[in-house]
Order: sequence, then C-alpha cells, then structure tokens
Amino acid sequence: MTTNNQQADYYAVIGFPVKHSRSPVIHSVFARQTEQNMTYQAQELHPDDLEAFVAQFQRDGGCGLNVTAPHKSEVVRLVDELSEQAATAGAVNTLSFTKDTIVGDNTDGVGLIRDLTLNKEWPLKGKRLLILGAGGATRGITRPLLEQGIEELTIANRSAAKAVALAEHFSSFGDVKSARFSQLDSECPYDLIVNATSAGLDGETPSFPTNIIGADSHCYDLSYGTHSGPFLSWAKENGAHKTANGWGMLVEQAAEAFRIWRGVSPDTADVISRVPG
Ligand code: NDP
Repeated sequence: MTTNNQQADYYAVIGFPVKHSRSPVIHSVFARQTEQNMTYQAQELHPDDLEAFVAQFQRDGGCGLNVTAPHKSEVVRLVDELSEQAATAGAVNTLSFTKDTIVGDNTDGVGLIRDLTLNKEWPLKGKRLLILGAGGATRGITRPLLEQGIEELTIANRSAAKAVALAEHFSSFGDVKSARFSQLDSECPYDLIVNATSAGLDGETPSFPTNIIGADSHCYDLSYGTHSGPFLSWAKENGAHKTANGWGMLVEQAAEAFRIWRGVSPDTADVISRVPG
C-alpha cells in the first residue's frame, strides 16, 4: 500500500477511437479495492502518433498502457521484450514500463478463458469451436483456446486470406481449420461459437449460416453492451442453448493486466456484476 502524499503511478488505455472504453472505470475500482495509489485514463491516439506517444509516456515516467484497436499489432515493434503469449499472438494489449525497458503482454486469452471456464462454467475440453473474425482479438485468444484440450478449432473471416494465414500461424498448437463464412454450412453444429468480429460496432446483424448453431451450442460475443446485441439476438433466434457477451472477458483481461503491473489480483466478481447496459 502507498500513501496519498506519494505521486500516483500513471496508467492509460490507448486506442482510436477509445472514448467508449470501460477500462478506466474497471481499473479505478480495482485500485480502490486493492488500495493502490494510481491513476488510469483513456487516451485517444491516431496511429500516426503511436510511436511518439509511447516514447514520451516512458520519458514521463508512465508505468503501463493498455492497448486496443487499431494499435495491438503495430505496438509489437516498439517493445524491448514480449511475453510468450504476446509473441505467439503477434499482438499486445498490455505494456509495462521501466525507465529503460518496455515489456509487451497479451491478456485477452487469459481473460476469455477465465470468463468461459470459471465465471460461465462452459467446458472447453473435447469441444468443437468456431471463431468468427481474424483480427487482433482472434490472434490473442487462439493459442489459449487450443491449450484447453479442445477437439478442433475453425477460424472464419470475411477476408478469407486472413483466416488462412492465422490457421497456418497457430497450426503448431493444435488442429486449426480456416473457412469463409459461406463455407460454414456444416452439418455438424459447433459446441462454442465466438464472435470476434467488430460488425456489432456498426449495429450490423451478421449474415452467418444459421446451421452452425445447434440445440447445444454456446455463443459468446467478445463485444458487450449494445454492440453484442445483433450477434446474440441472432444466436438466440437460431436456437443457441446459451449466450453471453464479452463484459466478463474485458474485466478478466483487465484484472490480469492489473496483476502484471501491481503484483496483486483484484476481485473481479464485484465489477462483473455491474453489467454495462
Ligand atoms: P480488428 O479490427 O483487429 O478485427 C476486426 C474483425 O472483424 C476482422 O476479422 C474483420 O474482418 C471483422 N469484421 C469487421 N466488420 C465486419 C462485418 N461487417 N462483417 C463481418 N466481419 C467484419 O478488431 P479486434 O479483433 O481487435 O476486435 C474484434 C472485436 O472484439 C471488437 O468488437 C472488440 O471490441 C472486441 N474485443 C473485446 C475484448 C474483450 O475483452 N471483451 C478484447 C478484445 C476485443 P476483415 O478481416 O474481413 O476486415
């Protein structure tokens, strides 16, 4: 615990846009809960300003940054060290600073796995999984999902080449297939479908084949609040057994970043119970 007359350690989340981010609220609750003397702000940052901002943040004595779209891949080249998960993913969502060193981590996978298995109690072992989308979030969650003993993982994307590239990239960690959305007309529905597209940000109702969902399928949208509405409504209308949005993942990935920075694990249940509208 630190005293109030010490200068607070300084953290931020960078993205473009970033004003929608709930990370400042989550980290302020964690800081109060664990009595950490720190501040955390949202910083909108155009991609052209990324490198200069990170260098200045380090010079100013900033302690850590969370990184969101569209900077997760680009920031990799600015770090001195990468955690194993960040190196495999080729994407970083957490930066830790000292005067001389920047370390990049990726906590998205830990966040998703904790939410699925501990909070939702959705089993993964032996299951057939489908990820819709092949962007930065998919990069972060693919290896951690493969390490849960799943039977098979398919990555499907609007731009098929990106799905093919990711399936190849992660093939040493398990059985990964790739597909276009239109090729997903499977006779055997998936046990878990994870929507990792950002289509919901525009309020778009997805045009995925409906028979990817069966009576036992679980559907999870990485986005939350109103953005998860279109996919989760579509999943329910097409008979999904259970659905959930990515609020729990967001809180859990934040908790892992907080642990990396502060060396203490906050209680996530209290924050998760404050579901955003
Ligand atoms: P990226 O911008 O890196 O990737 C976006 C993906 O969405 C691409 O695969 C893109 O396909 C696809 N896409 C975009 N629009 C459409 C559309 N209209 N129809 C079909 N596919 C579309 O974003 P991220 O991977 O970083 O994030 C994806 C989502 O996950 C976002 O909603 C984000 O908020 C959420 N997220 C949630 C987290 C949490 O903790 N809950 C953590 C990280 C992300 P294409 O390649 O063809 O352009």
